[in-house]
Amino acid sequence: MPSQATLDHRRVQLALRKATLRDFLRIWRAFDIHDISGTWGPVEEALVQLIENRGRMSSGLASAYYRQHRRELEVPGRVNTKLATIPQDEIVVGLRTVGPLATAEYLARGRDPEDVADKRLVVAAGAVGTYVLNHGRETIVDSARTDRQARGWERVVTTGACSFCQKFSGRTAPLGTDFAVHWSCGCTAETVF
Ligand SMILES: [Zn+2]
Repeated sequence: MPSQATLDHRRVQLALRKATLRDFLRIWRAFDIHDISGTWGPVEEALVQLIENRGRMSSGLASAYYRQHRRELEVPGRVNTKLATIPQDEIVVGLRTVGPLATAEYLARGRDPEDVADKRLVVAAGAVGTYVLNHGRETIVDSARTDRQARGWERVVTTGACSFCQKFSGRTAPLGTDFAVHWSCGCTAETVF
């Protein structure tokens, strides 16, 4: 069973994602699938900034939670939590893949433009939320790696998690294992001592 601190932490991370998605919708509106090259630039720039800002918050929340979780379990010693960042290049490539590149490809295949626009919005929203929450998840997993008392970490799923996440729920992953996610994954990690 995840601790109360872990459940609280998962809740604040999900609230952060929700707030991020509201901003995402405002930004995404400026992307016109009939004028991809004319509209994508500023959208990309704003999304990268949004992901970096909210990602920093996600990492900060995870770091504070990590210490709290440790304190509550009365784990001895100290840990230097590591605030995770994601390289900007990686974010840009991901956004272009789900945004302009996929849009152009589906339109070229003759798909209904309205369907393409709807689908791209959903996929891009999932990607943005995932990038933001990856900051917090990586902060926990990376901090555990340098924590002498940690034995591993467990995946804590959200209600309605997909079968992939359910399968790994509650299993202890060894230190050094990366946190595998899919678009729109809302899971978090809890360090096992
Ligand atoms: Zn998940």
